[in-house]
Formats: sequence, structure tokens, C-alpha cells
Amino acid sequence: DAQKETLGFQTEVKQLLHLMIHSLYSNKEIFLRELISNASDACDKLRYEALENDSLYDGQPDLQVKIVADTDNNTLSISDSGIGMTRQEVIDHLGTIAKSGTAEFLGKLTGDQKKDSQLIGQFGVGFYSSFIVADEVEVITRKAGSTTAEAVRWVSKGDGQFTVETVEKAERGTTIILHLKADEKEFAEDYRLRNLIRKYSDHIAVPVLMEKPFYGKDEEKPATPEFEAVNEAKALWTRSRTDVKDEEYQEFYKHVAHDFTDPLTWSHNKVEGKLEYTSLLYLPSRAPFDLYHREASRGLKLYVQRVFIMDDAEQFLPLYLRFIKGVVDSNDLSLNVSREILQQDPNITSMKGALTKRVLDMLSKLATSDAEKYQTFWNEFGNVIKEGPGEDYANREKIAKLLRFASTQGDSDVQNVGLADYVARMKEGQTKLYYLVADSYNTAKNSPHLEIFRKKGIEVLLLTDRIDEWLMSHLTEFDGKSFQDVAKGELDLGETESEEDKQAQEEAAKQVQGMVERSKELLKEQVSDVRVTHRLTDSPACVVLTEGDMGEQMRQIMAAAGQ
Ligand code: ADP
Ligand code: MG
Repeated sequence: DAQKETLGFQTEVKQLLHLMIHSLYSNKEIFLRELISNASDACDKLRYEALENDSLYDGQPDLQVKIVADTDNNTLSISDSGIGMTRQEVIDHLGTIAKSGTAEFLGKLTGDQKKDSQLIGQFGVGFYSSFIVADEVEVITRKAGSTTAEAVRWVSKGDGQFTVETVEKAERGTTIILHLKADEKEFAEDYRLRNLIRKYSDHIAVPVLMEKPFYGKDEEKPATPEFEAVNEAKALWTRSRTDVKDEEYQEFYKHVAHDFTDPLTWSHNKVEGKLEYTSLLYLPSRAPFDLYHREASRGLKLYVQRVFIMDDAEQFLPLYLRFIKGVVDSNDLSLNVSREILQQDPNITSMKGALTKRVLDMLSKLATSDAEKYQTFWNEFGNVIKEGPGEDYANREKIAKLLRFASTQGDSDVQNVGLADYVARMKEGQTKLYYLVADSYNTAKNSPHLEIFRKKGIEVLLLTDRIDEWLMSHLTEFDGKSFQDVAKGELDLGETESEEDKQAQEEAAKQVQGMVERSKELLKEQVSDVRVTHRLTDSPACVVLTEGDMGEQMRQIMAAAGQ
């Protein structure tokens, strides 16, 4: 019904709006990118739905975005001929935030503007960024396939509520009208807008049109304005690598990933042969807040012969690479491919294998070419990569090279030691890679198990993440050498022990034999054995797990799972 309703924003929207307006002020022009990005998504969706039902075009086959500025009224409008929204969709999409975990995320806000503005980078700003420059936003939209009388008008001042009412709209699609704030007049200026469109939207596949400037002196200005495309309007991944500038790759990332920080790196490839496809894979520079949420969206944007098919196609990458964003455009898949078909198609399995390798190669390249960026990647996503050896046994060697740990070599909990670095520093005669698992870096660092290693100058990896024990249960060797938990079983220090050492140890063992017997008596059922050890140099005794025993972290994980 046409009735006008006033509705309140979801609490999270209010918080997000507040945060956005205050923290993105120095970066306010991004609103245009976000609105053009949405318009382009809407055109993609219409093109896809029209594959099945071309009556949706309803005599208006052009998919485009039009930008019209009105300096007299200080308004800016962005119109698209895309899919449009129903009344319910307007309420759902422009009044709430669908992402799970949002409340939890916003609960982390500190009130400290600097910190909070970094947080927002993990969120993606989207439509609500309009309120950075506008004091009132109007959305007039008509869903493709509905009648001219079924359009919807949404209006809000961004102050906590919005209204919706049913209106008439001649053309399908969405128009967003920004009533610019008095001091944001620059965004109604032709040259400023053209620059922004070229800067942010060249890579968008639909044309972004603006009115042709009118320079005529003698002729009258034409009654209906003529429009021209301002952006290049060519899908970026279809261009050749050498033609695309870094800034263009970065802008495209922001469109695809709904992120607004630059990616760390990317890999753009055209594959020809049995299967033909183009992929453009990006490594984000920060983890999304919902990286560990089961329902979080993940996967690539799938296109078939340049037609958008779906977002979040998760079948092309394994779970431990779920943070990778990007596009895959296949020449072989059918245009009406579904998620179910993707799951069963053996071609997808082989594409997944190839794309996984691409990502692993991209990461190892980054590790050698830019240690600082690699460290950023590791700090953000290392814990996810650690799921790799368990999930993807075939690639475990490649993944192992990407791992980074804290170790006794360093003096902080920064995980920056690669296994290859470790091997390069191994002592003469050392045959194993030693590691220690503990709850925290401090516990690990002060563990009595490390005494003998310190004395001998042997490096030990310090593993303190929840997932480490799981990781080590799937990582048995590296570079032909096995791993040894220094807290488990007999300690084999290989050839690093001299003959004299061994004799001295046997001698010492004989001398304390009596005490060992008495301890066994005393501790009885509490331990399975008492042994003389040479792993300690300062502490008198320590508890050691039997080889094959579950470690402390694993015990906790199993206990938490109710086992
Ligand atoms: P995102 O683009 O990341 O989903 P936004 O805040 O930018 O988030 O947009 C929220 C939602 O509103 C979109 O997912 C879409 O469903 C809807 N929407 C926004 N702009 C348009 C538009 N021009 N046409 C159709 N739907 C739109
Ligand atoms: Mg968006």
C-alpha cells in the first residue's frame, strides 16, 4: 500500500552511521565509489536474472549509471537501470545490516576515534557512506518486473529513522538523490565529479554517464541533455595485465571486496587450454571482523563469459584461503550454472586446485619480495593458514613454507620465523625441528623444557595459538626432517651431544637412582614413570607428556567440545 511509514534504523545501523560520519570525514569522496559500485552490482544482477526472463528489460535494454548534479539546489543524483528494490527490500537493505556478528563487532568500539576508524576498515562502508556528504538522502527505486505504480521512495536524514512510501516511477532501477551539506558543494561540480568517476570507477563494466558539457554560444542549449560515458567501462579483468595500473587494480579490489583499504597484493591470470578462464585474486590487508563466523560470506565473484553469475562462489578455494577476494570468469561453464552444479562439476575441482596453487604462489612470492607486507599478512591471516596442512594434505609442503612462528631466537611474541630460516640455523648434528606448545608466549618462554636447548644454543619454536597443536598433528616433517615436541617423550638431541656429555649423564643418573625409586613410590598412580633427565639445567624437575599423549591445548579443545 501507498501508506507512508516511518521506521527506525536497527541500532547497529545508527552506531555505524555515527562512526562513519565521524571517522571518514577526511576520506569523504568515497561515497561516490560506493554508490556507483552498488549501481553496477544492480545492473549485474539484472543482466543475470534476464538470462532466464528477458521481459525484465521491458523495452529498456541499456544497463547504465547516470550522474546528474544540480548546483542550484546543491543535489547530486545517481541513477541506475539495474534490478531495483521492492518495498520490503528497501526496508531490509537500507535499514538494517545483514552481516552476522555486527553487534559483537560494534561492541568493540572504544570511543577513541583513531582506533575506531581503523575498525571500520574491517567493515566496508557501502550505502550509508552517503551521509558523510549529505544531510538528507532520498532513494527512489522500482524493481524490474513491477509496474510503474509500484515504486518506493525512501527518505532519511541519517538521524535514526527513515520513511518509506509507494510512488510512481517511469523507469526501472534506482535513483539516489543526495541533498548535499552546505559545505559539500564541490560534489555538485562537473569537473570534480568527472575526476572522481575516472579515479574510482574506470574499471566498472557499465558506462557511467554524465551530461555533455555545453559550450555552444550561437545555438540554443538542447532541451534534452545529451549524455556521454565518463569511465572506461571495460571489465578490468578482461584487460591485459600490462594495461592495468596498480591504482586501477586497487580500486577494483574495493568494488569486489566491499572493503576500503588497499589490498596487499594480487594475481591476475588468463588460463587457456582445456579449461579457459580468467582469475583475479586479491590478498586483503586486514582480516574482516567475521573471519571466524561460520555464516560469513566467502568466495569469489563468478562470471561466465563476462556475465555476472553470483557473489561468494565458495567452490573455487579451500576454507583455509577463505580470506582471498576476487573474480573468476569462466568460458566453459553454462550461464545457468547453480551452486549445486558447481559442487559436482569435476572441472570446478580442477579449477579449485589451480586457483589454490595460484594463491599459494602469490603468498610465497610476497614472502620473498616484501617481508614487511608478508608480516602484515601473517599477523592478520596466519591462524587461518594454519588450518591448511589439515585441510589440504596435498599442498602441505607449500603451506609449511608459508608458516611463521615465534622462537627462542627472538625476544618477542612476533611470529616471524619461517621453517626454512629455522633449518638454516640448525646446529651441527641436529636432525629435528624442536617446538614447544604453551598457552601463552610468556609461559612458553619460561618453560623449564627450554633449559637444555638454551644451554646448547638450539632454537625452539614457541607455539602459543589455539590451533597450533592441531597444526602440528598434521605437519610431521619439513625438508625431510621431523618435528619434535620438547615436552613429550624421550628427548633426542641427536648428534649435538658429545660422548663426554653422554657419559656424564649416565654417571649422574646412577647417583640419583635411589631418589628416582622413592619418587615413583610417592607419586604412584599420578605419573606413568619417573626418569632422570638432562633436559633441565636450573629447575630440579618437570612434567613430561608421553609421546602420543594429547597436549594441553588439545585436551582443552576436546573438553570444550564435550569429549
Ligand atoms: P553491499 O553493497 O556491501 O551489500 P551496501 O550498503 O552498499 O552494502 O548496500 C546494501 C544493499 O542495498 C545491497 O546489498 C543491495 O541489496 C541494496 N542496494 C544498494 N544500492 C542499490 C541499488 N542501486 N540497486 C539495488 N539495490 C541496491
Ligand atoms: Mg555496496
